[in-house]
Amino acid sequence: MSLLSAEGLVKDFGGLRAIDDLSVSVDEGELVGVMGPNGAGKSTFFNCVSGVIRPDEGTVALDGTDVTGDPPESLAHRGLVRTFQTTRELETMTVRDNVRLAAPDQPGERTLPALLRSGAMQDHEERVRERADSLIEAFELDHLADEYSSNLSGGQRKLLELARTLMLDPDVLMLDEPFAGVNPTLTREIADRIRDLNADGMTVVIIEHELETLTELVDRLVVLQQGRLLVEGDPEAVLSDERVIEAYLGGDAE
Ligand code: ADP
Ligand code: MG
Repeated sequence: MSLLSAEGLVKDFGGLRAIDDLSVSVDEGELVGVMGPNGAGKSTFFNCVSGVIRPDEGTVALDGTDVTGDPPESLAHRGLVRTFQTTRELETMTVRDNVRLAAPDQPGERTLPALLRSGAMQDHEERVRERADSLIEAFELDHLADEYSSNLSGGQRKLLELARTLMLDPDVLMLDEPFAGVNPTLTREIADRIRDLNADGMTVVIIEHELETLTELVDRLVVLQQGRLLVEGDPEAVLSDERVIEAYLGGDAE
């Protein structure tokens, strides 16, 4: 059984079919790349899977449970989180606070009094601080920890977003174009972090629209075109597939 399984997804926007009978499965521990020309439906596929939008048809199952249309918070609770193509950090906050605030299960009001009595609140905050600091260090953002995130470069924002996402300690991490607008050095750094996370057992799905970037990183490539699955399989084989070459040279590509 696949860890993540999307079956027969359809999503229309007005007269436009953005996702057209799309089925994609991901096994536990896999590192999968989702490619396709601009407008192929990659982000919409992520949106359907991560609960940002509800598909018009089809189902999404996570670890055997039907989670179709479940909201992102509920999916995050089940271990699935995604980043967005455009980063969503809070610009008027420091890098450190941005990472800390992404922490899950801030004790709610109901449990607060009990926690205050027991001292568990301090423990929770201590753990959040420690985890945030270790992620900031792992992503080599320590020298920027007290900077406002508005002062970061595009690439540094991508690292910050990844660090924020990891505060949720996901089992399945979905990244929408983590390398877009990122310089080659930071791209390698982000790729290395992704590889480390996957080696530690995290299942990762990455969207990328450029042909070459993912080949060395992923176990399997899934190529979308006009909302449909065009080709999937071994990266080398996929990249030399006539249909993929045609899709990218066919005028659809940026
Ligand atoms: P990709 O991420 O592969 O570039 P998208 O999933 O963003 O593609 O978009 C697929 C198609 O759906 C595009 O034609 C896009 O314009 C359209 N689309 C995506 N989101 C919306 C939306 N919220 N409203 C209307 N059209 C949308
Ligand atoms: Mg997109």
